[in-house]
Amino acid sequence: MEIKKRVFSGIRANARPHIGNYLGAIKGMIELQDKFDCIFSVVDLHSINVPYDPKSLQSSVRDVVLDYLGAGLDPKKCHLLIQSQMAGEHLELAYYLGCVYPVSRIEDLPTYKDKKETYPDYVNIGLFYYPVLMAADILIYNAEFIPVGIDQEPHIEVTREMARKFNSMYGTKLVEPQRYATPGGSVPSLVGEGKMSKSKGGTITLTDSLEEIKAVLAKAVTDSGKGESFPATGGTANLVTFVELFEGHDRAQQYRSMYKESGIKYGELKTELAEAIYKELQPIQVRREYYAAHPELVEGILEEGKNYAQKIARATLEEVRQKMGLV
Ligand code: ADP
Repeated sequence: MEIKKRVFSGIRANARPHIGNYLGAIKGMIELQDKFDCIFSVVDLHSINVPYDPKSLQSSVRDVVLDYLGAGLDPKKCHLLIQSQMAGEHLELAYYLGCVYPVSRIEDLPTYKDKKETYPDYVNIGLFYYPVLMAADILIYNAEFIPVGIDQEPHIEVTREMARKFNSMYGTKLVEPQRYATPGGSVPSLVGEGKMSKSKGGTITLTDSLEEIKAVLAKAVTDSGKGESFPATGGTANLVTFVELFEGHDRAQQYRSMYKESGIKYGELKTELAEAIYKELQPIQVRREYYAAHPELVEGILEEGKNYAQKIARATLEEVRQKMGLV
């Protein structure tokens, strides 16, 4: 029997998954589930290193699971895992990896610096440990392809470095992973600088209605709509990137030309774009509702995922412990 290469990815449960998560990560997962041995996770242990509400964490975890299933992750083709149900395994490997990796390298990561800026009063050890735990999430399954957004590239690089260092020190055969890229690898923010992010607000979630999508787009910053050259950055450039992602390249090019000629009418652009986004989200919402109405089905899917993942993770740990001289 042919052995399929493995894929792993995860989304945190801090807020509802948004269209950045969908285009940058979930679409890649959907593409890969047909060909590879896929484990997709709600990485809830990564949700607790920033301020969060313990009372609503469980429902947030369920929301991500339902969004996954609604978006098209097929439980017949992939395995779904709640990371904290395997906290012991993931954290154990993270500790071993942390023992071979320099502090200075983590301090330099842009993602760590970014989170420090967002939560200056909450710079905790868990936050610092985030890339180490993420490396463990991946290496414990020997996953080769990781469908995640561009922002995660530095963490994948850290994971490769850890695998190399660990293998050379202990003679293990941890697999060096690579990011699987989708066209929406960096969906811009609608309300400010950088990428769309749960922690910065202004997101369009997978369950938004047409009216809610319109309301978010209404707040997107724009300019006069006309100028000598189409801007490379800023609100207008970002909006047209959304057009590119949801309405296609040709429509985006038309807007870029319009900017230099007759001018863009943003009201019309936003209405058209809202409808295109909603058209993509509507079937997701219908499928999601089906799973939401069948919680026992979802429980079964998660149970299967945990059992599947556990076997692989425990085998990896057994080898690692042996090679490290711990048994
Ligand atoms: P967030 O960054 O919104 O807090 P997560 O950290 O849970 O969300 O990220 C989950 C996945 O979604 C990761 O693969 C990440 O790279 C991807 N992702 C997050 N934001 C974006 C974005 N704006 N564009 C593309 N991919 C994104």
